[in-house]
Amino acid sequence: MARTLVHNFGKNVSFKPAIFAEPKNEQEVIKLLRQHRGQSVRVVASRHAWSDAIKTDGLLISTRHLTQIELNPNRQSVRVGPGCKIKDLLRFLKKHGLTLPSVGLIDEQTIAGATATGTHGSGKRCLSHYIHRVRLAHYETTTGEPISSELDSGPELSAAKCSLGLLGVILEIEIEVRPSYRVEEHTKRHASLANILELEKQYPLQQFFLMPWSWDLYCQHRRETSADTSRTALLYRIYWLLGIDWLLHLVLVTLARFRGSPRFVRTFYQQVLPRTIIKNWIVTDDSHTILTMDHDRFRHIEIELFVSRSNLEAALNHVRETIITFGDRLQTKKAPQPFTENERQHYCHHYPICVRRIRTDDTLISMTSPANLNREEDWYSISCISYQSPHQRSGFFEFANSLALSMHQKFRARCHWGKYNPLDQSANKDLYPRLEEFQEIAKRYDPEAQFANHWLKNTILNDQPIDS
Ligand SMILES: Cc1cc2nc3c(=O)[nH]c(=O)nc-3n(C[C@H](O)[C@H](O)[C@H](O)COP(=O)(O)OP(=O)(O)OC[C@H]3O[C@@H](n4cnc5c(N)ncnc54)[C@H](O)[C@@H]3O)c2cc1C
Repeated sequence: MARTLVHNFGKNVSFKPAIFAEPKNEQEVIKLLRQHRGQSVRVVASRHAWSDAIKTDGLLISTRHLTQIELNPNRQSVRVGPGCKIKDLLRFLKKHGLTLPSVGLIDEQTIAGATATGTHGSGKRCLSHYIHRVRLAHYETTTGEPISSELDSGPELSAAKCSLGLLGVILEIEIEVRPSYRVEEHTKRHASLANILELEKQYPLQQFFLMPWSWDLYCQHRRETSADTSRTALLYRIYWLLGIDWLLHLVLVTLARFRGSPRFVRTFYQQVLPRTIIKNWIVTDDSHTILTMDHDRFRHIEIELFVSRSNLEAALNHVRETIITFGDRLQTKKAPQPFTENERQHYCHHYPICVRRIRTDDTLISMTSPANLNREEDWYSISCISYQSPHQRSGFFEFANSLALSMHQKFRARCHWGKYNPLDQSANKDLYPRLEEFQEIAKRYDPEAQFANHWLKNTILNDQPIDS
């Protein structure tokens, strides 16, 4: 039988697992684990991760049929099947006047996929933090029989909240919910980072953008409000959908993929974009609508680095210098001459750099788990996105590798587990104070590391990597 070719959203990861299975229920998951005892097993959900997290040459289990949702009678939490997409869960909760405590920029991920990699938005803790209970299928240590276990307290729960699938196959998640709420938003240009940070208390959900090449700072100031939905909310949605999600992205995708574009990218950011951003339009709308966007209409790739608040300013300066260094290698190039092999290794960054604040959480290895166990300091994520086609990305990878390594050395920056992540175990050992505790728990639930793959052995587990 022909093997199924699996690739992720970014098309930077593709592989052929020996078996691709889509179980219809939990019993079928247990049966699959029994049939494939001793083999490598990984789970795949919406395939949005850009890291090698889903890769295996053994059994790949898709959770697309495991999508049940049940609201607990106390209306404080909901029990969800792992393959349920965030957007479907939010739609279900909305009918009950409820929502999730935190959401990322898109809602296409599944609940298990998003929490397995510590997915976050801005101003809150990451989604994994709000998990109350996890049920997972794994192999029993003494008999090797597949069983299901519930983790609802202590370090085991903290490990299971963000585990990259290393404890086993998540069958159900119970997660906190809260009453629906509205968010007020307006966008403003700022002269300095200090101005933006000063406004955090007033706008706890805000996120901001550093524009490449103009180096302007724009902040989307956001706060929860009891005000009614604005009369212009519909118009604002149309502006976002047509103006930002479609038109702006079409321009940026064209600039990113057109080979002679570096000088056009600079001109666009210096002359055009500042004139088109609508500032100070204050709008109130449903939290889900304001906090999410549709920039996934076009294929792209992203690296996201996490630094603590005390390192934010220096880290942003470093990102700016790195972008200039990589971009300047191309500046003198005259379009439309074809690029040489050497020039292809360089990179002109062409997308706004998004910066979000995330509070520390109760997990062992999420990117926003505490760096210092005695002190809580907020994290800031800095994301660099490239809309170049998959075959044009060698320059992006060189840029991203350089940024990840230098930011780790200078600022102890962590890399998102679900985005492009080139850091190895020696770096991660230094970055996550509870990594060893996580490794011990993973060993208890999966002594033979069957639920790991080559990348996870190299980055998280204290294990000799195997080929997979
Ligand atoms: C356009 C886009 C926007 C994004 N925006 C954000 C954002 O705003 N904030 C943010 O933090 N991240 C963001 N991400 C990253 C994304 O949230 C993560 O990569 C997330 O892990 C993807 O979830 P998924 O459902 O696609 O899971 P997959 O990519 O399919 O899998 C991710 C991981 O979860 C594991 N997994 C999935 N289901 C199970 C299960 N049942 N049992 C055990 N393990 C399981 C997989 O094995 C894998 O390790 C974005 C990604 C994209 C493509």
